[in-house]
Amino acid sequence: MDVDVIAGNYAAVQERIARAARNAGRDPHDITLVAVTKTWPAEVVLAAYEVGMRHFGENRLEELAPKRQAVEAVLGASSGIVWHFIGTAQSRKTDLVAAYADVFHALDRLKIARRLSAALTTLGRTLPTLLEVNVSGEASKAGFDCSHWEEDTAQQADLLAAATAVAELPGLQLCGLMTMAPWEATPADVQTVFRRTRLLADWLQQRLPQARLPQIAWSHLSMGMTDDFELAVAEGATLVRVGRALFGERQE
Ligand SMILES: *Cc1c(COP(=O)(O)O)cnc(C)c1O
Repeated sequence: MDVDVIAGNYAAVQERIARAARNAGRDPHDITLVAVTKTWPAEVVLAAYEVGMRHFGENRLEELAPKRQAVEAVLGASSGIVWHFIGTAQSRKTDLVAAYADVFHALDRLKIARRLSAALTTLGRTLPTLLEVNVSGEASKAGFDCSHWEEDTAQQADLLAAATAVAELPGLQLCGLMTMAPWEATPADVQTVFRRTRLLADWLQQRLPQARLPQIAWSHLSMGMTDDFELAVAEGATLVRVGRALFGERQE
């Protein structure tokens, strides 16, 4: 892939993020662009690095591990790259998350959290982690069920209990929520899901026992992809996960 094309796409996406941030009265620097390189080879990561990108997102561990190794073989281990694992982790693969992810966006079960924390403790690492929440209620979506969180006190209690349990695990640093927009939805409906996710994050932050658990670093909201990252920025996203707008359509 041509470095000049990637550079042009990168500038355009950055400009769109900055404009959406300014329109919402936000500082563009508060938004981190996570370049989603899934299905693209390590050469594409290296080209993106060359034009200035530093945050990369992968959704399959089978791909993250060798790609990170290939990139580090060229750039070394202290290139400044931050690797975001944005996919669902299966419990038998938590060792790979612990070894290869720098940020984990999609924690959706306590069983995974416990295994991951144990693996991280063995490695002597802590992993900034976001809980994935299913706010749209689509059955195909992963994440804690928060489809009716505003009025469903059982959903509220479940999420608060899960977040507290995660925050108590020594290997994980709880730092926010992640969500996926509904697939076939109008921009207005997508924006509503993002807004409800932000309100949920605020609701949770007020109730987490942060005085007792100072390791909580509540600061992130991961939402928005190629088709909707401007709506996500308008609603408070701090991490946007963008693939196709940077690298073009994936082949797979
Ligand atoms: C693929 C993927 C993205 C990026 O999607 P684009 O439409 O290419 O921007 C973002 N988040 C997750 C979880 C993904 O799997």
